Amino acid sequence: FPALTETPADGSADRPALRFGERSLTYAQLAAAAGALTGRIGGATRVAVWATPTMETAVAVVAALLAGVPAVPLNPKSGEKELGHILSDSAPDLVLTAPDDQLPAPLRDLPRLDVDVHGTGPVPGEHADESDPALIVYTSGTTGPPKGAVIPRRAIASTLDALADAWQWTGDDVLVHGLPLFHVHGLVLGTLGPLRRGGSLRHLGRFSTQGVARELNAGATMLFGVPTMYHRIAESVTGDPELVKALTGARLLVSGSAALPVHDHGRIATATGRRVIERYGMTETLMNTSVRADGEARPGTVGVPLPGVELRLVEEDGSEVTASDGETVGEIQVRGPNLFTEYLNRPDATAAAFTADGWFRTGDMAVRDPDGYVRIVGRKATDLIKSGGYKIGAGEIENALLEHPGVREAAVTGEPDADLGERIVAWIVPAEHRSPPSLDELADHVARRLAPHKRPRVVHHLEALPRNDMGKIMKRALPHD
Ligand code: ATP
Ligand code: MG
Repeated sequence: FPALTETPADGSADRPALRFGERSLTYAQLAAAAGALTGRIGGATRVAVWATPTMETAVAVVAALLAGVPAVPLNPKSGEKELGHILSDSAPDLVLTAPDDQLPAPLRDLPRLDVDVHGTGPVPGEHADESDPALIVYTSGTTGPPKGAVIPRRAIASTLDALADAWQWTGDDVLVHGLPLFHVHGLVLGTLGPLRRGGSLRHLGRFSTQGVARELNAGATMLFGVPTMYHRIAESVTGDPELVKALTGARLLVSGSAALPVHDHGRIATATGRRVIERYGMTETLMNTSVRADGEARPGTVGVPLPGVELRLVEEDGSEVTASDGETVGEIQVRGPNLFTEYLNRPDATAAAFTADGWFRTGDMAVRDPDGYVRIVGRKATDLIKSGGYKIGAGEIENALLEHPGVREAAVTGEPDADLGERIVAWIVPAEHRSPPSLDELADHVARRLAPHKRPRVVHHLEALPRNDMGKIMKRALPHD
């Protein structure tokens, strides 16, 4: 992070770096505050960070990076059981907090250090080795208990440089988002990302479409979000001229962390003429694919491999998918400098995650379209349904269901079936002010759009889908799944 560790002669140290609500820091102030903190955490082997969406969290993580001490961001919304697991697994020496944070029971025995965002101290040289761990980030826990991914400094640097290259992300860019800071999306991309090239971040604290409109209309150039945020934008954009103007004027609108429903993509494009681009990544690999700033976003796809990232699709029998036919499904495997090194304290899980020649098995299934774009079909564990001799991805059925006016949210799973092997089950949240669509109506709707064998055989109505803090649907938490 040259903008933090080198004092430029051109006065650019007085440029804005971070803003959270009313509080902002220039590069010089951020370097001084982080520098002061490095002096206090220098001897630690690992520090936890109570990762609220605040300036303190950003300063804490920057300081840990500068000091070469691995940081473990904690989700402040975690339950005590999850926090207890993460603390005993990662064994931090202390927890970095904001002065007014109230900590729950599992953290009270840990020494606490309040971050002073106005502190001043010298910035140490970045001495650490690039293979040294920078962050230990727990996965979202969508498919099982969260695992601590050990992320080396090299992975952060290479993923941010690859995105800077693909998105033409420069020091002139001003990023706006309201993402949480305990996952790689909001923390690595959303907070360290702007700092890599001397740009800046305006964090909304809490996401709102009004906040997005205000910041983009006040000069922000890029927006990052998860699909649930773009869904809210899609819901309100048509009647909101300020929001239309904001999105139309933005340089880049980027979605990630889960699939962006094609329906929401389409509604935003229709209202603004702008296409949201998707990027695909995960805690273990940081970013794998995206669409270049000068490329074309295609709904339902996540673009092409980023510079430096090797990506292949592998079939169940171990053979590599060579066809770009938009049909042959394989598991995405990734290799490159963007990879994590291991799951903390989980040599079994680490060994299972890599092939003999170092490819990481993502567990995500995809096809390659004729133009080379990667189209994610879903997760191997929960989204691939084997029914009547076909392999069917839950995602395209979910996209089709969402195009039905009576459906507000949709998730699709498979359940055992004597005839079919598995049968397709749809879980829907009906749209308000309408009578919920029947099974026959939805089955017809899907059969007409996709193919008869992709129609749901069972429909459950729910008031809401179970989602985690990133807005991801937790299929394992569906009632009878
Ligand atoms: P856990 O590994 O604990 O079950 P998780 O996989 O949800 O949780 P993350 O590392 O936060 O934890 O999420 C990465 C996953 O999110 C990817 O493996 C992929 O399934 C999904 N994902 C990320 N971006 C996209 C995208 N653009 N489209 C579809 N899926 C995506
Ligand atoms: Mg995962």
